[in-house]
Amino acid sequence: MSLVFFNSYSRQKEPFETLEKGVVRMYNCGPTVWGRQHVGNFRAFLFADTLRRWLQVRGFEVRQVMNITDVGHLVADAEEGDDKIQVQALKEGKSPIEIAEAYTQLFLADLKALGCLPAMANPRATAHIDDMLAIIGALEKKGYAYRAGPAGENVYFDVSRFPRYGKLSGNRVEDLVAGARVDVREEKRHPADFALWKSDPKHLMKWPSAYGEHGFPGWHIECSAMARALLGDQLDIHTGGEDNVFPHHECEIAQSEALTDKPFALFWLHTRFLTVDGGKMGKSLGNVYTLDDVRARGFDERTLRYALIRGHYRSPLDFTWKVMEECKSALAGLDEMVSVLEQGGLESAADAGTELVRAADTAFFDSMDDDLNVPQALGALFALRQDVIQRKIGGAEAVQLVRELLTTAHTALGILPATDSAGDAAIEAKLEERHTAKAARDFATADRIRKELEADGIVLQDVPGGKTLWRRA
Ligand code: AMP
Ligand code: ZN
Repeated sequence: MSLVFFNSYSRQKEPFETLEKGVVRMYNCGPTVWGRQHVGNFRAFLFADTLRRWLQVRGFEVRQVMNITDVGHLVADAEEGDDKIQVQALKEGKSPIEIAEAYTQLFLADLKALGCLPAMANPRATAHIDDMLAIIGALEKKGYAYRAGPAGENVYFDVSRFPRYGKLSGNRVEDLVAGARVDVREEKRHPADFALWKSDPKHLMKWPSAYGEHGFPGWHIECSAMARALLGDQLDIHTGGEDNVFPHHECEIAQSEALTDKPFALFWLHTRFLTVDGGKMGKSLGNVYTLDDVRARGFDERTLRYALIRGHYRSPLDFTWKVMEECKSALAGLDEMVSVLEQGGLESAADAGTELVRAADTAFFDSMDDDLNVPQALGALFALRQDVIQRKIGGAEAVQLVRELLTTAHTALGILPATDSAGDAAIEAKLEERHTAKAARDFATADRIRKELEADGIVLQDVPGGKTLWRRA
């Protein structure tokens, strides 16, 4: 079976293709760093990580960029309200930069603890203001953007100039009647026009530009600019949570495509929201859990990772403490399979069950290839677990096949052996380095990395298609 993904843009599954053979340019909408990320956010980020891991298993070089929104995301919606980071800064009596930096560090530490491989880059929006202004200026020149306000200090995107506006979300421009404040509505040509640049002397983070001294970017232009700066005009995959579809991604498409006249992303993948106790998360409900809350309840990061990736990313998923207990038992079941293999008795048993392992292998790969169907892939592993535990598998060949499948499964899902996941991320990073060295025909470096890993007890196996599997010796 070939790799297919459900593309939100076409609303159907499509065979996966990339702009450049063997390379995936992937942009994941990252967090707004006004506070600690919660388990819901991590559903979206773990999806991005699992997707990246599977693409690597399938032999792609993945250039993954996950941004950090450290300015411009407003509380009410994209158009109105105060900047989320500014609100938090005033609350904590700190500067917005201090707030953003502190929560960025916590976010990156949480990602690492959850076994996420480091992205190629985690750009901060505030480091790309010039890139944003360059796009806004170009959009103005092309007639897609206009200035408004008494001194022309606000800049809006003119949606009437972009006929595809609404294609991703299914919204019709005619129906997008303003929920906006009257004064904001009045300065726009159309209620659906959205801000690229806003002026506000009271805003704490502000930059001088052609539009005045006190401006800051709209949230959407940030992602268009960071994606372009790091990955170029076109992406293979763009991801985000389901709430990002509108207005955020709809607006990104309009800006980027109006600028370049090329499709912005070939594939749009969106994660359904995580619910907690069957409903929405809310501060007032006391159910906005962070990784520290999960640890305080006695669960480790691996169990949380499992709990958040075990459902299909396009299906609803619920988080409860009871579910966490179940996930802990499920992982113990998988660990039991690994320890039965480690004990060694199976290898010397009579040959048996290679067909069972091959069936599990096919089911695992087919499931992951089919729009990243993790629950079905896990089903294949649990079926294999039964076979191993009931000693239906025997002999060196069958056991070796099980080991290979488990190595792939671990590379893809990051949940298998009871080893520390931070260590795994370090191994994956070295593998990437080796892959890059090999691609550059720098075999001395590639050999050195292999030897270093071997010294740490990590055995590498290069397999067809350019991928490398690893396992602990
Ligand atoms: P934010 O920091 O609000 O920009 O959110 C960061 C990411 O988390 C975005 O991609 C959101 O779509 C995603 N997200 C927020 N809440 C949830 C949730 N309950 N379930 C899944 N994803 C979420
Ligand atoms: Zn974004």
